[in-house]
Amino acid sequence: MSSMPPQRTGGGQGPGRGMSPAQGAQEAERRLGLPCFYSGQKVQGMFGCVACQLQIRPRQGAALPTCPQCGEMIWAYLEGGDRPVPEGEAAPVAPQDEQGRDVSVQDGVKLDGPSRPVSVEEGVKLNP
Ligand SMILES: [Zn+2]
Repeated sequence: MSSMPPQRTGGGQGPGRGMSPAQGAQEAERRLGLPCFYSGQKVQGMFGCVACQLQIRPRQGAALPTCPQCGEMIWAYLEGGDRPVPEGEAAPVAPQDEQGRDVSVQDGVKLDGPSRPVSVEEGVKLNP
């Protein structure tokens, strides 16, 4: 009742202890040379668990889970190419080009056409 095990805070030994997921992802990224993300971030693509290599592909708009196999929170991005930007985070480098905008303005397009008069004729006999 009175004896509590001594707890040390702030002095983690080795990786994996006392690190936030973001720090863990950075650490894994340095180690693997791949962009790494952690559970809770919303990123698209193919990811591999850094601990057991399980590969997952989150659904559109879904956040990275913890590894269903080993519980790891850190995922390495396996698709190569540019590092994806998690939803809700700013891209590290934003090119200031005017090109590439996907806004197209069309003038003179009318969506409302002339209303077609519908005439209903009653009493039409088809049989002679
Ligand atoms: Zn795993």
